[in-house]
Amino acid sequence: MQSNAKRPRVVIVGAGFGGLNAARKLAGRDVEIVLIDRTNHHLFQPLLYQVATAALAPSDIASPTRAMFRRDRDITVIMGDVTGVDTARRVVAIRETGELAYDYLVLATGAAYSWFGHDEWAAHATVLKSLEDAETIRLRLLGAFEWAESRTDAAEIARLLTFVIVGGGPTGVELAGAIAELARSTLARDFRHIQPAAARIVLCEAGPRLLAGFPPSLSDYTLRTLGELGVEVRLGANVEMIDAFGATASGERIDSANVFWCAGTEARPAARWISADAARNGAAQVEPDCSVPGHPDIFVIGDAASLAGADDKLLPGLAAVAKQQGKYVAEVIARRIAGRPAPGPFRYHDLGTLAVIGRSRAVAHLGRVRLRGFPAWLIWSLVHLFLLAGFRNRLMVYMNWSWAWFTYGRGARLITGIPPEEESAAPLRDETAQAAKRPRPAGTVLRS
Ligand SMILES: Cc1cc2nc3c(=O)[nH]c(=O)nc-3n(C[C@H](O)[C@H](O)[C@H](O)COP(=O)(O)OP(=O)(O)OC[C@H]3O[C@@H](n4cnc5c(N)ncnc54)[C@H](O)[C@@H]3O)c2cc1C
Repeated sequence: MQSNAKRPRVVIVGAGFGGLNAARKLAGRDVEIVLIDRTNHHLFQPLLYQVATAALAPSDIASPTRAMFRRDRDITVIMGDVTGVDTARRVVAIRETGELAYDYLVLATGAAYSWFGHDEWAAHATVLKSLEDAETIRLRLLGAFEWAESRTDAAEIARLLTFVIVGGGPTGVELAGAIAELARSTLARDFRHIQPAAARIVLCEAGPRLLAGFPPSLSDYTLRTLGELGVEVRLGANVEMIDAFGATASGERIDSANVFWCAGTEARPAARWISADAARNGAAQVEPDCSVPGHPDIFVIGDAASLAGADDKLLPGLAAVAKQQGKYVAEVIARRIAGRPAPGPFRYHDLGTLAVIGRSRAVAHLGRVRLRGFPAWLIWSLVHLFLLAGFRNRLMVYMNWSWAWFTYGRGARLITGIPPEEESAAPLRDETAQAAKRPRPAGTVLRS
């Protein structure tokens, strides 16, 4: 596809928070927009942990990108994996379909988890970044209780029912709290031989406190609340080893069939594609208008970009930053095309941060206001409902949450599939394969 000389073509790579908002804001202007993503959906990552813990179904938090732009005739959506950019020829390379020319390029490819130089741990721990990851965690989580029920060896049951979460940021805290509630409430009475409530949930954080981006008082509240939920929090616990049978943190060995990795992130390789200088986490260092030094027609936004805010601190990897940058670069491009003066540099408007710990328990840091407990949880719920894309998803999530709030039930408890090919999953995998061959016993605990 060649670029149309009359209408400049804006190619946006990534239909996450940044790319989606750039496309929306550009829609209707005198440009041709091509939005490329390797998946066919926009994913609301803040609620991934609820899919992982069987509170929501995958389709509740994702929407087909193509359907979101049904009415925007100027926007072409392409499902494809971008593998590089030739800045001299102004083309992006798409694995499946070849090259695509651009006049303006917006790279919004987000971030992936970093294993801090221990890529071998990826074989034994599960991350939470995509819908597939969330389904894998759900499968392993629910599977662990199922297999433990039929085991007789106490050590093996204990290993199956020990869940280690690495990383005490919002994702680790949310996952730990949700697993604790799943074990202590939802599953508590469903088994005959094991006591789900006795499951161990161990949260390892290398730093001195949880939720390091929040004020210390809210970190303390989070620590106390997780303790009340029965989560064992290890602060200053450096994970030194993850293998098929558990993890070692600051010298302590924890036997576990399930290690979930929620630690540091690194930007996807957008900076390498355009040979831009990268920050320590691989994010492209951009100018105050989010363009790439030496390439004024290329912009990098969201988690893939590294830019300091007004306080000289790097902007955090948050959906709000990506959304605001997406809208901002759309304005920069539209004005440049129209021959109008550029807006001032990008300014992030910090609307606050929220993290949920469990049912009716959350923390909120909204400027000078610090909330905890039910008020913070109520704000968290309303904000997340409001930010979800699409009326159907909002309705489904609202109904699921209401049901769960009154009943402690979780609606998405089906086990469908076989755990991934990992050594640590071997006992599960073998038994799943055997179970698939056996007729399902009456009164099975699998349910929708
Ligand atoms: C589990 C979890 C919970 C979170 N909770 C919160 C929260 O509560 N609040 C908050 O503000 N932030 C939260 N975040 C962070 C937030 O989701 C990110 O900051 C935000 O998604 C960044 O937006 P983005 O557009 O830069 O990237 P993303 O939203 O990650 O989008 C990147 C897109 O690029 C696509 N892509 C990547 N590489 C390629 C390629 N080579 N070719 C084609 N397409 C590609 C991906 O498929 C994806 O759709 C959370 C993140 C996670 C993982």
